[in-house]
Amino acid sequence: MKIPFNKPYQSPKALEYIKDAMDRGHISGNGHYGQKCQKFFEERYQVDKCLLTSSCTDALEMAAILLEIQPGEEVIMPSFTFVSTANAFVLRGAKIRFVDSRADHPGMDESQIEALINEKTKAIVAVHYAGVPCDMDLIMALAAKYNLFIVEDAAQAIESEFKGKQLGSIAHLGCISFHETKNIQCGEGGMLMINDQRFLDRAEVIWNKGTDKAKFLQGEVSKYQWKDLGSSFQLSEVNAAILWSQLEEMEEIGKKRKGIWDQYFDIFCRRDLKESHSYFELVRNSMDSNSNFRIQPLEFRGNSHMFYLVFESEKERKAYSEALSEQGIMAVFHYQSLHKSDFSKQQFPEEFKRELPNADKYSRGLLRLPFFLELDKVNKEWGKNDL
Ligand SMILES: *Cc1c(COP(=O)(O)O)cnc(C)c1O
Repeated sequence: MKIPFNKPYQSPKALEYIKDAMDRGHISGNGHYGQKCQKFFEERYQVDKCLLTSSCTDALEMAAILLEIQPGEEVIMPSFTFVSTANAFVLRGAKIRFVDSRADHPGMDESQIEALINEKTKAIVAVHYAGVPCDMDLIMALAAKYNLFIVEDAAQAIESEFKGKQLGSIAHLGCISFHETKNIQCGEGGMLMINDQRFLDRAEVIWNKGTDKAKFLQGEVSKYQWKDLGSSFQLSEVNAAILWSQLEEMEEIGKKRKGIWDQYFDIFCRRDLKESHSYFELVRNSMDSNSNFRIQPLEFRGNSHMFYLVFESEKERKAYSEALSEQGIMAVFHYQSLHKSDFSKQQFPEEFKRELPNADKYSRGLLRLPFFLELDKVNKEWGKNDL
């Protein structure tokens, strides 16, 4: 038996919607399905404007253009994050200042942000790791106090909330990913959420490759022309059709993921197993095979995006992932602290020299277990199918 780390869910309607998109004769961006998806999110999350992009990386790059980052200006973000969070701003000449992770969670330690703010600071990127919300009250208060912009990297955070508000819809701009490893996915895809009216017009221009095509399509101008910076950011209708098939099932998918998270939590924290001879039993037995594993307590569910364990040492992580691998189970580690990367050493040597012990702890010790809807099937059809 082989259990991969991820197996993208395929909605039964996906192929029908792709065919429909093709039959409509419009498979580039901003068509029938793309507009349906955008409207869905605008209504559900009460957002002024949602724009589908071909990745969350693109949405972050659009955010950096919208904020008019100037070379030498500083952007604050966690060190324990994906490279795109940083690259989007570095492409505009920003200097990145890195914040450590929390002791109890890989997300950013909000209490360390204020010490990094100076006259060059332009923005803070709040990364909601594993869909667990950053303290947005605290971060938005810093924005007001120092006149900064806040971007939410809610790549992993779809359907997760902070005090009743959807993540990505709270700060000035929010970015979501529909990459195949995320809860709701269309292969490659993303979305920019524009929560501040000031950015609305310019966002559409940037999204339309730097032209006022949106105004032209609405009949407000007779021809469209070059107005601003822009690039090819739109999501193809083929991907939007796949995305729509998943949005129709979004609540069901969310419930199933919650069930998987609960089963993992049960075996590691409650030492309780509902079904024997299941995948989850294998995962637990692999753990019991070595009684020396020291694991940080598990506390945060977020949106059931991932289930991870944090080992005290890299050696323990490796031992457990090898024990799983012997059973055919693929567990994977995650980010390596950005401040300690080769690129940071070259570009931001002062940041490279800083000590951010928690970010390094998660780089060394965090292990993500397989997480996809068909893990349920592994229970019922034990040994019959290789996934
Ligand atoms: C996945 C991810 C991204 C990038 O998303 P893409 O859609 O693959 O570009 C950015 N930031 C975080 C935190 C992510 O998890």
